[in-house]
Amino acid sequence: MKKVLITGGAGFLGSHLCDRFIREGFHVIAMDNLITGDLKNIEHLFPLEHFEFYHHDVTKFVHVPGKLDYILHFASPASPIDYLKIPIQTLKVGSLGTLNLLGLAKEKKARILVASTSEVYGDPLVHPQNEDYFGNVSPIGPRGVYDEAKRFMESITMAYHRFHKVDTRIVRIFNTYGSRMRLNDGRVVPTFLGQALRGEDLTVFGDGKQTRSFCYIDDQVEGIYRLLMSDYTDPINIGNPHETTIKEFAEEIIKLTGTTQKIIYKPLPQDDPMQRQPDITRARQLLDWEPRVERAEGLKKVFEYFKSLPPGELAQKHHREFNKNPL
Ligand code: UDP
Repeated sequence: MKKVLITGGAGFLGSHLCDRFIREGFHVIAMDNLITGDLKNIEHLFPLEHFEFYHHDVTKFVHVPGKLDYILHFASPASPIDYLKIPIQTLKVGSLGTLNLLGLAKEKKARILVASTSEVYGDPLVHPQNEDYFGNVSPIGPRGVYDEAKRFMESITMAYHRFHKVDTRIVRIFNTYGSRMRLNDGRVVPTFLGQALRGEDLTVFGDGKQTRSFCYIDDQVEGIYRLLMSDYTDPINIGNPHETTIKEFAEEIIKLTGTTQKIIYKPLPQDDPMQRQPDITRARQLLDWEPRVERAEGLKKVFEYFKSLPPGELAQKHHREFNKNPL
């Protein structure tokens, strides 16, 4: 039986990956320090014989007994509000955390896939973004702690690949949405759906002309799985190229949810990228992958998920305080 370690395993992407690898017949170890992750996302897996949870912060030395075949490094805060609130942890998990996991991969002769991001392209001057674009990133802006940590992650991953011959994969993840996102994490999909459900106005930042392209979680997980099982070691974009302005997106949410609330405008956060759309030619050609779930269909599922949450959770619209010393 193949054994996989998934860091950030109690988070949004990580917990969906745990589900997938369990379904594929793996022994899964989820690791998380629970700063932004939540045990609720994986508690359904606890009774399974081939699922384990390690409460650990990967910026500290990572030990896993026995053999290990695969590592997926998905531990990181991933919303702009999160990394504004916990900037040092964001930098550490992308840098020190990646270093520790590459060391573990080398030791165990395991294949490692690291979760990079469209943020490596910054506020892009090339559109749509293909993998050869080097990006337009401010190292000292509020997003710098995330963007530069992920750029370092890619850099050290390629160094371990070239110098130590570690078997590596790099996925550049574009905006992804699905169940288990935190309603109050500040990202646009849970924020708009939460506002609609609570009967509040939808807060569009800036004039709403900035664009994003949203990928449904099942498509994202499929892309990551295919990349891990492929032989391709350069970075690959995984995301949905169907682009929308944020204003149009707010209108779409109003229609979908049937809310009678309106759009209100708030200041645009600093360094908010103006446009974002993945060029997925490489994923199409090398992984035979493309997204299958239309936005209307995916959003409906997530709306149903948020509706099914206990009312107490829906009421938590304010961003929670993080435990700065979780372990
Ligand atoms: N946004 C918005 N209203 C909100 C939250 C986000 O207009 O309440 C905008 C944000 O300014 C950005 C886009 O939605 O242009 C996507 O934001 P998100 O935080 O989801 O992710 P990003 O792609 O910026 O990392």
